[in-house]
Amino acid sequence: MSGIRKPLISGNWKMNHNHFEALHCVEKLSMRLTAEDYARVDASVHVPFTDLRTVQTYISSEKKCFILVGAQHCHTEDKGAFTGEVSPAFLAKLEVRYVLCGHSERRQYFGETDEGVNAKVKAILKHGMTPIMCVGETLDQREAGDAESVVRAQIMAGLEKVKAEDVSKMVIAYEPIWAIGTGKTATADDAQVMCAAVRAQVTDTFGGETALSVRIQYGGSAKSSNATELMAQPDIDGLLVGGASLDPDEFAKIVTASHPA
Ligand code: PEP
Repeated sequence: MSGIRKPLISGNWKMNHNHFEALHCVEKLSMRLTAEDYARVDASVHVPFTDLRTVQTYISSEKKCFILVGAQHCHTEDKGAFTGEVSPAFLAKLEVRYVLCGHSERRQYFGETDEGVNAKVKAILKHGMTPIMCVGETLDQREAGDAESVVRAQIMAGLEKVKAEDVSKMVIAYEPIWAIGTGKTATADDAQVMCAAVRAQVTDTFGGETALSVRIQYGGSAKSSNATELMAQPDIDGLLVGGASLDPDEFAKIVTASHPA
């Protein structure tokens, strides 16, 4: 974690918590997060679409709650005949601040390609929201020694023709696929090496100033017991947390552990 970039801890709820459960979860989380947490760390929750309005209404009515609303996906078009899809314009109206794109589950189960991720990054930016673009290698790619080249290629493709000034405001989440939902976390050293490679790719394509501003998260079985060590790495500016974010006590502990006094 570097002093110049405010850490971002994001909870990806995936397809969990109906809107009643979402309200309870976010209420509990809000009771546990303190003014010091908010001063030191940005915290977002990426809830299912059906929970967004409930969560946004709660957060905007609570004066001491600064949890940021996140989405997990969106379409690239503003409106039209795309049955079942959700427009980025609609998300922006719900005060969504961050939108995940290119999550490995979307790439694997819904056929998202690097080109599609690139279009989505541009659509999210167009509506004034911040993309959290996920990249990461499979276990086979890692064992073949290709982890860095795979991730660098995903970044180049996902950010093609995106302006440097926009990239500087973005978040890139490095998530080794073999660590997602498996309980296997990358070691802090390995995560640092890969997050440094992410930043190096941003430097190569967009320049050093952009690379200094872009925030890089690590994701893959992050929890309160490993958050401090991961966040101590110079190129890790935040965590993207799946399973452990469903429990508000644990997620609050992760936020607090991310900024040890
Ligand atoms: C994720 O869904 O992005 C993720 C990192 O999940 P988990 O923390 O459960 O590995």
